[in-house]
Amino acid sequence: MELFQYKNNELYCEDVKVADLAKEFGTPLWVYSANKILHEYRAIQDAFEEVDPVVCYSVKSNSNLSILRLLNGAGCSFDVVSGGELYRVQHAGADTTRVVFAGVGKTDAEIRQALGQNILMFNVESEAELDAISRIAASMNRVAPVALRLNPDIDAKTHAKTTTGKKGNKFGMDIERHNALADKVLADPNLELRGIHMHLGSPINTTDPYEAAAKKALEVVTELRAKGHQTNWVNLGGGFGLNYRGTEAPPATEYAKVILPYIKEAECRLALEPGRSVCGNAGALISEVIFTKREGGKLFVIQDAAMNDLVRPAMYDSFHRIWPVNPKLAPPTDYEAEIEGCEATDVVGPICESGDYLAKGRHLPPLQRGDLLCTFSAGAYGTVMSSNYNSRPRGAEVLVKGSDVQLIRKRESYADLIEHELFALK
Ligand SMILES: *Cc1c(COP(=O)(O)O)cnc(C)c1O
Repeated sequence: MELFQYKNNELYCEDVKVADLAKEFGTPLWVYSANKILHEYRAIQDAFEEVDPVVCYSVKSNSNLSILRLLNGAGCSFDVVSGGELYRVQHAGADTTRVVFAGVGKTDAEIRQALGQNILMFNVESEAELDAISRIAASMNRVAPVALRLNPDIDAKTHAKTTTGKKGNKFGMDIERHNALADKVLADPNLELRGIHMHLGSPINTTDPYEAAAKKALEVVTELRAKGHQTNWVNLGGGFGLNYRGTEAPPATEYAKVILPYIKEAECRLALEPGRSVCGNAGALISEVIFTKREGGKLFVIQDAAMNDLVRPAMYDSFHRIWPVNPKLAPPTDYEAEIEGCEATDVVGPICESGDYLAKGRHLPPLQRGDLLCTFSAGAYGTVMSSNYNSRPRGAEVLVKGSDVQLIRKRESYADLIEHELFALK
């Protein structure tokens, strides 16, 4: 289901003209479709319905309070990786007893905060962290629910910066340490082993890594129970693919097909932590062309969104579809192909870095100053990774549902940029 669509050479988000939003709220502008977010969340919930999964939306992919509240209202739970994200989830009115907490560097204050909120479980990434949780739980007279994060040494075949389930990266622990720490939990009155956690990386456009992970989870849970653990949760993380280019990501039902048999056999509750696949294609970044220039045999389109807004192309070499908001040509089915009437164009921002681009050598129709561009699939890892580099205020965010438009984050002002700074006193 696509909710950003062209009708008569005009881009719509749901029932609203994107050009009207740009006029009202200015650019760069983040536009989200509420119904797309809900649709993608429900697609996952429905695909795994047989085992009544707890879908914990990964807050780090897009943490806007209105989006958290929207998902919370639909019955979604949350996966957090910091005290700040837990604070956001609380603020959005979520039931924190269904929240899971991952991350390799949880501080004492964050552990205390999470225990205070009675979270569902900590995804523990090391022995040192397990010891810290035990110590803090003891001081609060509590039993801390934990899952040990297994690094299953599965190659998810994704970008080097986003693969997490392979030997040699900082996440989780190998099976020997996992089993040793499980013994330690059993002997510790302040810890309870709720389950096993894995997160393989992102985005993963094949189902095999998940099948391997689910199979591994079944083996591990069986062993843990034989040792006397009450373990009854399997958390397979997130990382589900997203259609950045076309239809490269399998639908949720395909992932479910390979995962469900193992979960049913293990007789476990299933937790999932999807982020990108829920909000990625529900968001777009709208920008306005400032100048065009030809230099060194290349055509550059300089527009007002930059790497401080969307860093993914610079950071991960990622591909985002880009097309005008009011195009003279219908959008192509293949954005990577040469297109009749188009010219290879570098779409760049105003920042003083050669890495500041949204696309390189992209075939686009002729563009001029004032034209609006849409960068698609920007709903996940867009705003959350944005910065004020070059002292650029961040753009506004709007949430569209049908014909309803809500401003969910104000555009930053110059005053916002300097708000936390103080003049040093001699
Ligand atoms: C980032 C992350 C996720 C979400 O990954 P997506 O690709 O956005 O689905 C889930 N779990 C953990 C532990 C993560 O670090």
